[in-house]
Amino acid sequence: VKGEGRNGYSVYDDGLMEVADARQRLDSELRHAIANGEFELHYQAIVDAHTRRVCGAEALVRWRHPRRGLVPPLEFIPFAEESDLIDQIGQWVLRRACIEAAAWPDDTVVAVNLSPAQFRRANPVAMIRQALADSGLPARRLEIEITENVFLTGAEDNIAIVRQMKELGVSISLDDFGTGYSSLSYLTTFPFDTVKIDRSFTMNMTKRADCAAVIASVITLTRCLGVATIAEGVENHAQLELLRGAGVDFCQGYLFGRPAPAADLDFSRPAVMKQ
Ligand code: C2E
Ligand code: CA
Ligand code: CA
Ligand code: CA
Repeated sequence: VKGEGRNGYSVYDDGLMEVADARQRLDSELRHAIANGEFELHYQAIVDAHTRRVCGAEALVRWRHPRRGLVPPLEFIPFAEESDLIDQIGQWVLRRACIEAAAWPDDTVVAVNLSPAQFRRANPVAMIRQALADSGLPARRLEIEITENVFLTGAEDNIAIVRQMKELGVSISLDDFGTGYSSLSYLTTFPFDTVKIDRSFTMNMTKRADCAAVIASVITLTRCLGVATIAEGVENHAQLELLRGAGVDFCQGYLFGRPAPAADLDFSRPAVMKQ
């Protein structure tokens, strides 16, 4: 609310108070949600670009709010990242994903997002070790998705922590590749198993030659480094064909399925494409 006239300041103050109130409310509602088990995981299939085999799925958290219905992660994860809430939510997500994935075929993988904030207070290695032990999921079936932001703050320490994760036997993927400032340099900072090409490139590749060129060279580069590629946000056949031509390994996107409860995943046959 913008202040007006001589009362501008007090109106502005009211606005700040409202923001503070809203934050306070969200904070207490999230604490309640953690205690009450209001979160659930949806999974989006990760598909072999050439055989359409469903090789695994990415876990994406949702909040089943008693009044607001299903709340998407971008409406509460960034807020949770500013406090200790992300630690508890993140721990629940990881544990739950490992437990659900333990029931999937043995040659599938579950990918779990780990935000930079989860490196701040506690070392997430112990959390991963515990989730694997509790669920019985073999480490090789867990993939941890991090963004290059993990390496911006506390760079040296965090690289060491991610190395410890790899030593547990989990694989590490570099999420949202291409959106950061210095993506290319991170490929040599750490031995990633997988690079996820951001949706912003996939989205534009059939319209813009420069985006298609970026994707093609990223795939060539990662192949030289022995790193697999996943293209995010694949929505149509034209994108899939271009990506296959460029040699992408895996695809994820609405063409193969939206995120849905684990029960909706079908590993028994090649992914069905929409249309
Ligand atoms: P992300 O990790 O990049 O996840 C991919 C997002 O793209 C998901 O949104 C997914 O639903 C959406 N998406 C997938 N395919 C398509 C497509 O073909 N077209 C379009 N338009 N979108 C597609 P979602 O589930 O809303 O998640 C948003 C972000 O929230 C995630 O981005 C991730 O950064 C964060 N997030 C989600 N779950 C978790 C979690 O458990 N922990 C943490 N730390 N972050 C999470
Ligand atoms: Ca992700
Ligand atoms: Ca992503
Ligand atoms: Ca993204």
